[in-house]
Amino acid sequence: MLIVMSHKATKEQLDAVVQAVERMGLRAAPIPGSERTAVGVLGNEGYIDDLTIRDLPGIQQIIHVSKPYKMVSRDFHPQSSVVNVAGVRIGAGCRPVVAAGPCAVEGEEQIIRTARAVKAAGADLLRGGAYKPRTGPHTFQGLGEAGLSLLAAAGRESGLPVVTEVMSPDHVGLVAAHADLLQVGARNMQNFDLLKELGRAAKPVLLKRGMSATIEEFLASAEYILAGGNPDVILCERGIRTFETATRNTLDLSIVPLIKEFSHLPIMVDPSHATGKRSLVPPMAKAALVAGAHGLLIEVHPEPEKALSDGPQSLTPQGFAALMADLGRLHAFLGV
Ligand code: PEP
Ligand code: MN
Repeated sequence: MLIVMSHKATKEQLDAVVQAVERMGLRAAPIPGSERTAVGVLGNEGYIDDLTIRDLPGIQQIIHVSKPYKMVSRDFHPQSSVVNVAGVRIGAGCRPVVAAGPCAVEGEEQIIRTARAVKAAGADLLRGGAYKPRTGPHTFQGLGEAGLSLLAAAGRESGLPVVTEVMSPDHVGLVAAHADLLQVGARNMQNFDLLKELGRAAKPVLLKRGMSATIEEFLASAEYILAGGNPDVILCERGIRTFETATRNTLDLSIVPLIKEFSHLPIMVDPSHATGKRSLVPPMAKAALVAGAHGLLIEVHPEPEKALSDGPQSLTPQGFAALMADLGRLHAFLGV
């Protein structure tokens, strides 16, 4: 950390800053300049909380050199991580995976039909929400525990590991008993109690990017899970809020190569929630693979027009099979 003093700062103010740094158990190295003095802070391991310093008089600016995350960073862990989800390997050097299924589990027939269809088309994982984070309380909220059981049964029947969302720290044990991969939705990316509980879970986590989260905030949330003792985190870009209203969100594909620079964790892309529009899902899925995504999360519904949530962005089984055939050709072309 570098503390830049104002050009009007007095010797007493500089001394007070030096003492405050030393009270934190760190070393302060004043660097006098022609116009102002800067104070280099040394001896820290990782990010410094500047709370007790930032309001001291005479300070013009505090520049953080270390990031608010460490365990997820590539500096700390140069080798890319591969996460094993019930035998499906996700990450660098692995064939990109596809998790597919409905937004929500709506009933036995719906989830079994979808599971069979996505399995036949080549999906690696089955998705389906049982606890749904809906914007308003008057819409379908998911089947809860019954939905978890139906999803797990469809996964067993089709031979696909399952991924589903967990919204509350109290449900982590229950969801982990049914699912192979625990999803944190965009709206809960900064639910810190949930992240801490997932740090203690024995199942891998799919952490979706918050609607307005910066890359730094996204990685700091992943850090909670790793710091809690769970190393198996997969990141997922699902579009961010911008001024644009023609699409549901704006897919930020540049995050894919950028995450690979900053972090060793795998990164997947969800073109369904990113666009909100069925016709845009296949082209954005392909673009995500070209950008280097380690996997895709795609909503598929046997009858999208009857879906209780996210029908407009759900592919039909036929549409999904066509996309999977295209992705196969793309894998061959990209050599992944
Ligand atoms: C979902 O995957 O069904 C979902 C609710 O996604 P997000 O949290 O990205 O909106
Ligand atoms: Mn959805």
